Amino acid sequence: MEREVYESLKDAFRDQRTHEDNQAFIRRFVEKTDTHSLVRFSNHFRVERLSGGVALRVHSGSTIGFRSEQELLDLVGDVDRFESRHLPGTWGVRHPQHGPWRGPTIRNGNRLDGGVCPNCGNRLPVSRRCDFC
Ligand SMILES: [Zn+2]
Repeated sequence: MEREVYESLKDAFRDQRTHEDNQAFIRRFVEKTDTHSLVRFSNHFRVERLSGGVALRVHSGSTIGFRSEQELLDLVGDVDRFESRHLPGTWGVRHPQHGPWRGPTIRNGNRLDGGVCPNCGNRLPVSRRCDFC
């Protein structure tokens, strides 16, 4: 798949249909991150860092990829957070709004009717295995 990069966070929010309430929240920590580029994926976007390593993965209801609880505290503050099972060793944060997925595409066979993940608040596929945390 060809790599698609957003020109700006505004473009990313528009394309991903990021909830308005989440935009300011996400902008605050992305601006503190050593952002190299914003890369488009079908159901999220990634904040790749100048320093390399794990990218932040911004989903509709949460962001994962913080390198430690301390980094999360530094970038986001003392907020609702969790240890990621999807990206072991990283931490994630819930966005103020984490309702049903409203992004551009939903992968085939990944129907979202498995309820809501108790950990990150994203919609779950039928398998009930969360892809986001
Ligand atoms: Zn989850």
